[in-house]
Amino acid sequence: MAATGTIPSSILIVGSGVFGLSTAYALAQRDAFQNSTITLLERLDFPAPDAASIDSSRIIRPDYADPAYAALMSEAHPHWRGDFGAEERYTEAGLCLVQDSTGDSGDDAAHYYLVKALENVKSRLGLRVGRREAGGQVEPMETPEYVARVTTSMGGDCGRRGYVNWTSGWADAEAGMRYMRQLVDGIGRVKFRTAEVARLHYGTDRVEGVELVGGERLSADLVVLATGAWMPKLVDLRGIASATGQVLAYIDITQEEQDRFGSNPTLLCETNGMFIIPPRDRVLKVARHGYGYANPTTIPHPECPGETITVSLPRTKYDDPNLNIAPEGDKACREYLAKCIPSLAARPWTHTRICWYSDTPTGDWLISYHPTYRNLFVATGGSGHAYKFLPVIGERIVDVVMREERDELGAELVKKWKWPAQRKEEDHVWTDDWRGGVKGMILDEELAKGEIGGSRSRL
Ligand SMILES: Cc1cc2nc3c(=O)[nH]c(=O)nc-3n(C[C@H](O)[C@H](O)[C@H](O)COP(=O)(O)OP(=O)(O)OC[C@H]3O[C@@H](n4cnc5c(N)ncnc54)[C@H](O)[C@@H]3O)c2cc1C
Repeated sequence: MAATGTIPSSILIVGSGVFGLSTAYALAQRDAFQNSTITLLERLDFPAPDAASIDSSRIIRPDYADPAYAALMSEAHPHWRGDFGAEERYTEAGLCLVQDSTGDSGDDAAHYYLVKALENVKSRLGLRVGRREAGGQVEPMETPEYVARVTTSMGGDCGRRGYVNWTSGWADAEAGMRYMRQLVDGIGRVKFRTAEVARLHYGTDRVEGVELVGGERLSADLVVLATGAWMPKLVDLRGIASATGQVLAYIDITQEEQDRFGSNPTLLCETNGMFIIPPRDRVLKVARHGYGYANPTTIPHPECPGETITVSLPRTKYDDPNLNIAPEGDKACREYLAKCIPSLAARPWTHTRICWYSDTPTGDWLISYHPTYRNLFVATGGSGHAYKFLPVIGERIVDVVMREERDELGAELVKKWKWPAQRKEEDHVWTDDWRGGVKGMILDEELAKGEIGGSRSRL
């Protein structure tokens, strides 16, 4: 580790999202690091409201086309069903994965994903196929009528075919992160500090330290960067990982509606990336897993003083309290809500949000030592699907820090997560994913197209 083979005596983690906080938890528990100081820097007081890991809900599912992530979920799921999911942090109401067409062309990626995911949960995870009433855990839905039966309380057209996995669910994302923080605090080994890292001090083959906003410098034997979509500010990730803005819209509902929709499965349409997570506390969320918006920003080159680079970086309500979702995103959420739950079609959003993925070209995460700076480790590239692994991902990250492969899965994950040999110039080529919306949207251009009535976001 830290390329010297010795245990670092000081470790600085930057970023308190899923990756950073779970890494702190795993480090704090390992005997090997009992004499190391562990400091976690986070730019906002925990929980940072604009972090990808902080929201009302995140889907918890083993439904992956890629067997490695499905297998990793088998490790995480028992935790969600145990202590992580206690006190209503996890609700196992099922996940209804649908397609909006019955043909195999036009949405090949969606169809491929559905077929592979179903295959994995059946054959690799051994889930029982059949109607829920008869003890089935997974129900293939071959017709629109079958989808309508499963989603009957929504009252609309929720898809043409797909399957429902009754062993999937969703988590209260912020509550899960607060629980993880409580666990870390309980160990008493991690020093937390609210401070924003302005830049890293790069030497020829190592990072000398970090500079905080305000000028203070801190050094450590090992620096773990886990700043999510903000990462390209601190390290050159062009062609490796980039920030993409995703749209979320929330509405208030009545208690009667909460009772009607509250125990629904999550609905996720692989044709257009739209999804609806069942309501909690009379708030319902509509969102899109999309190509997202890029927010090109010219900044000083993080590694080469005097040069500049243009990279996509998050813009959030913390930067601009008046930031709304763009009209095209508003329209997509509105139309999807109207189609699936017609009774809520005209209900105004109470607030909206643009939430930022750190997207990699393949959809695999980036968990690796930096190839040039030997004491710099990066844990990012969540690509819209890392939250569900909160209970276990820290252990896997620390395995990579230690250069250990505890099992076959570990060996496979290391390959997926390694620093890529080549930077990608072309568009994303997700191999285990599908996306909705239009490719190549630029945040400012979409915002400039004006506002749609009822889309004002909460300040
Ligand atoms: C809209 C949306 C829906 C999603 N849905 C799902 C889902 O259903 N299921 C699922 O499994 N996953 C989902 N994900 C993905 C998952 O939430 C992310 O992959 C995961 O939360 C990423 O964690 P992170 O630690 O990389 O980033 P973050 O949670 O963003 O954490 C990064 C932290 O770094 C801090 N930081 C940034 N810059 C600095 C700096 N310079 N100095 C100090 N601190 C800094 C930030 O404040 C932030 O707290 C979704 C993500 C989004 C955005």
